[in-house]
Amino acid sequence: MSTPTEEAMIVLNNVSKWYGDFNVLRDCTTSIHKGEVVVVCGPSGSGKSTLIKTVNGLEPIQSGQIFVNGTEVTSKRTNLATLRSRVGMVFQHFELFPHLNIIHNLILAQEKVLKRNHEEAREKALALLSRVGLDQHTEKYPSQLSGGQQQRVAIARALCMDPVAMLFDEPTSALDPEMINEVLDVMVELAYEGMTMMVVTHEMGFARKVAHRVLFMEEGLILEDTPKEQFFDSPQTQRAKDFLASII
Ligand code: ADP
Ligand code: MG
Repeated sequence: MSTPTEEAMIVLNNVSKWYGDFNVLRDCTTSIHKGEVVVVCGPSGSGKSTLIKTVNGLEPIQSGQIFVNGTEVTSKRTNLATLRSRVGMVFQHFELFPHLNIIHNLILAQEKVLKRNHEEAREKALALLSRVGLDQHTEKYPSQLSGGQQQRVAIARALCMDPVAMLFDEPTSALDPEMINEVLDVMVELAYEGMTMMVVTHEMGFARKVAHRVLFMEEGLILEDTPKEQFFDSPQTQRAKDFLASII
């Protein structure tokens, strides 16, 4: 497994967020180093999706600070579009453009956002589709692919932007069981290559294999932020013990 560096890539300082008077994130603080893989888990409704979306500014916060690669996400001066182009995000639902074929799904943002020329963007797209095992499907439309294939396209599309970090929000939870591993395998490979990753998932096999740390959330709090071994072998809170017992 790759060893994370000491350089902080994602930093959350006392992040709090409310939806009206509902306190969805409470004073969340953590720091993810370059090359580190952090799995975020916890019961449904605990704030995992909200937390991960704050990292690229998809969810504004009311207090605290967030930095990605030294840029303050929460500063009014930060250009969020530029930041988002460098932080890959993969959701539960693949969110490919349905009217574009696979190769064009991968080319579009490279041309529009990174201003790459068409040939360069196409080469990058083909290389990444090959890497996720989809070079036979470049001309197909998303609806012609299985869920697992679409999710691999979504990962390849994010990688086309040369992201400094990748955020995943339950990337396999909408997939049929037989397709889960083909997506996890791509993620495992990325982790081994040293990508900085923040992954909301209940796939504890993935966590055991590649996570460096596990964050356990409940009711908007980061209840545990511990090295993987410790999380699985001796969770500190009863809540985490109960959670582990419920999903394994
Ligand atoms: P998780 O991903 O852990 O299941 P979420 O971050 O999606 O949790 O949601 C945390 C809580 O915030 C839930 O109780 C949810 O109902 C609430 N919530 C999420 N989005 C909104 C919203 N736009 N407005 C109000 N409440 C929301
Ligand atoms: Mg969620």
